Amino acid sequence: MCRNKILKSAGQKMKCPNCGSEINNNLKISEIFSFKAQIPNYICDLCRSQLQPLAGRDNCPRCHKPNIGTICSDCLMWENKYQIINCHQALFEYNQFIHSYFKLYKRYGDVLLARLFYQDIKKWSLKHSFDVVTYIPASPSHLQARGFDPVYELYKDIFELKELLAKRDADKPQAQKNRLERLQTPQTFYPLPELKQIQKNQSILILDDIYTTGRTLMHSHEIFKRAGFSNISTFSLSR
Ligand SMILES: [Zn+2]
Ligand SMILES: [Zn+2]
Repeated sequence: MCRNKILKSAGQKMKCPNCGSEINNNLKISEIFSFKAQIPNYICDLCRSQLQPLAGRDNCPRCHKPNIGTICSDCLMWENKYQIINCHQALFEYNQFIHSYFKLYKRYGDVLLARLFYQDIKKWSLKHSFDVVTYIPASPSHLQARGFDPVYELYKDIFELKELLAKRDADKPQAQKNRLERLQTPQTFYPLPELKQIQKNQSILILDDIYTTGRTLMHSHEIFKRAGFSNISTFSLSR
């Protein structure tokens, strides 16, 4: 009975929300007989082939920057300037495919794209455990313009998200800033009252969508550090 159910769901045809191609969800024989819960896949093979996974690429041990093999200069800068030891992981290198994906998802507001990476993020979540998981919130003006919070939507079905940070509206959108301007952007986050209810010995994971200079996650890291937390990790889909 259980096996019939699995075979039936394996035969369903689904379309990739990114390109419209049919998704191949046929299970391998070994998977059918393992009776393990299958993690749904929402990305087609063609889209997946354009991803550059970061795992096992001689990454910076602190931020997952690929092909560095040592602690990168950005991470050393964060340590020297803010006494923050970065502890970041990411899944995919930022490339043209990721760029186009986020353009469709964020700029054109296609909220259905939130689940494209569900399987990858879910697999990562099953290998790591944290007491509290929170996320980088959208600023009020972005939230109003888009009608949804892209980071929240990306992770809400995978983690039990707590809303602990809020973001002030910035003077200039991040996308319009050069690298130096981004690094020099002052703190735009502030803690919500709910943060006070969390015990300081809890491990914290802060989620974001893209890690560029690391500034956004470092500033959110700083809020938790100032509040007395010491076990703080960060994660982004892309880096
Ligand atoms: Zn696709
Ligand atoms: Zn680094």
